[in-house]
Amino acid sequence: MPAVEVDRLVVRYGSLVAVDGITFDADFGEVVALLGPNGAGKTTTVETLEGFRRADAGRVRILGLDPWSDHTKLTPRVGVLLQRGGIYPIMSAERAVRLFGAYYEDPRDPDELIDLVGLGSVARTPYKRLSGGEQQRLALALALIGKPRVAFLDEPTAGVDPAGRIAVRDVVVALRTGGVCVILTSHELDEVQRLADRVVIVDHGRVVAAGRQGELQGGSEELRFAAEPGLAIGDLSARLGARVTEGPPGEYLVPAPPVPALVAELAAWLAERDLQLGDLRAGRQRLEDVFLKLTGPGVAGAADGSSGRTSPASKRPSRRGRTRR
Ligand code: ATP
Repeated sequence: MPAVEVDRLVVRYGSLVAVDGITFDADFGEVVALLGPNGAGKTTTVETLEGFRRADAGRVRILGLDPWSDHTKLTPRVGVLLQRGGIYPIMSAERAVRLFGAYYEDPRDPDELIDLVGLGSVARTPYKRLSGGEQQRLALALALIGKPRVAFLDEPTAGVDPAGRIAVRDVVVALRTGGVCVILTSHELDEVQRLADRVVIVDHGRVVAAGRQGELQGGSEELRFAAEPGLAIGDLSARLGARVTEGPPGEYLVPAPPVPALVAELAAWLAERDLQLGDLRAGRQRLEDVFLKLTGPGVAGAADGSSGRTSPASKRPSRRGRTRR
């Protein structure tokens, strides 16, 4: 039994079909990222999996249970990282973690958890005085205090500084190693590329691509480099035997396997012209490129409503302050 099963899920807000038949699953010990542009239906999907919204059609199971009708049974076994809020403003991080821990039969050690998310030095600071990144780390701690089997992490690194990102990444890796199923949503695709085992890309309420990391990026490899803008790419293409393109000014893509001979030719071509080589990156396409190809401007259905959806009737209410308890 997968930890999370989503089968042809449909969720509507009035006449707006926010989720239009999404299907995917996730196993224990797996990190699955749900990606999509703004308004794609990620939050609606995750809120349905968390039991905060009812499916209009389709089937959703978490640990084999229905998150809407079995919400009470699931609550102690599922961790939810709230986007913000849900904590008394004057409560310290330490007290919040202890309080949330008291809801569970066998919680994690609060002090260890506070250290794990890097809040040791501000453990006594009231919530409202914590920085945005610190509040986010606390939200992560609260999602994990009950030793969940499934963790929903919505933008876990939003507003978190580089050191904090590493801490969050380490926490996610430790969850996976511990057999937890992690459902991650994020707009930070480099982060996702590092962390996720599988990726589900949604747009207009539908899955437009899904697969393991690497599969999704396709088998073909490429070379990317940076140099001064406006290189004579026709000449360089002829030299390399591949059609070089310039994306953003000064960033170049060579769609060919990045074998050493190709890299040597590129370096020689630049050296002959006394040009500097900037970033050099070899490998598969970046997740960001795949994402933009599938969901970016100009993609059918991305802007013309061809998915059959109507315009948003209203904005969703804020998740601020919402808590499962
Ligand atoms: P983002 O990346 O911006 O958080 P998302 O992929 O999470 O977006 P959702 O929040 O699920 O997208 O929204 C999907 C669609 O449903 C959007 O068009 C949004 O405006 C609409 N929507 C969300 N919540 C409500 C609501 N409570 N009432 C009406 N429409 C809503």
